[in-house]
Amino acid sequence: MNSHTLPNKRILAIMPHPDDVEILCAGTLSRLVTLGYELHVATMTPGDKGSAVLTQEEIASIRRKEARAGAERIGAKSYRCLEFRDLEITFDNASRYKLAGLFRDISPAIVFTTPPTDYMFDHEITSQLVRDACFNAGCKNYPAEGTSNPLDFVPYLYYSDSIGGHDLFGNPASLHFIIDISAEIETKTEALSCHDSQRAWLKKQHGMDNYIDSMQNWSALRGAQIGVSYGEGFLQHLGHPHPTDNPLRELLDAHTVEP
Ligand SMILES: [Zn+2]
Repeated sequence: MNSHTLPNKRILAIMPHPDDVEILCAGTLSRLVTLGYELHVATMTPGDKGSAVLTQEEIASIRRKEARAGAERIGAKSYRCLEFRDLEITFDNASRYKLAGLFRDISPAIVFTTPPTDYMFDHEITSQLVRDACFNAGCKNYPAEGTSNPLDFVPYLYYSDSIGGHDLFGNPASLHFIIDISAEIETKTEALSCHDSQRAWLKKQHGMDNYIDSMQNWSALRGAQIGVSYGEGFLQHLGHPHPTDNPLRELLDAHTVEP
């Protein structure tokens, strides 16, 4: 397909926590920005449980700033936090109205989020809410938050890799294609490096001091699957009523991988 068949050039990357975007899809997003696409980044929460020493509001305040810096590093036009709370994201009507309102505000032609099966509920419920909003934001009588007009199209929806590359059953994550991000690995690393607080927390909580290394190693593994230095994997939502062609194939030379 040709990119001009997209309804517009706006992209929304919406993931549960600060740093998910940077770990899972920052290289791909950076490439799209370079091509002239308008990127909007959102996190569901401000990462308010991501500290063993600070209060929720103290760590949230730090992590909103880190998330904004990370988004800016990959060229996002906007960053916003939807102010859900870590471990408390729920699939209910209030959440659905909020997501549909966001979709109407941004009107994204392409959406990225976490996969339907992942290692924790925040990731899975976010995935459900985002898929749900793709559908509901176009329904005229749906009581979305805000006053923006309903969408007159259904966005392309892409799910990122799972954290760690496995679904909740321990099976390899389902992927349709991998994007070559070799030229973006420095940008991606710098974006993730904006999240100093998380790096410190993981070290204290899990004894892990390989925040950056593990992202790079993972990106290298995905890259190796298509014969390049670094890559990011994705699954496209192909169920009705989503469009089923893949604009990323032309725009970014997406490489098909065997399931
Ligand atoms: Zn997360």
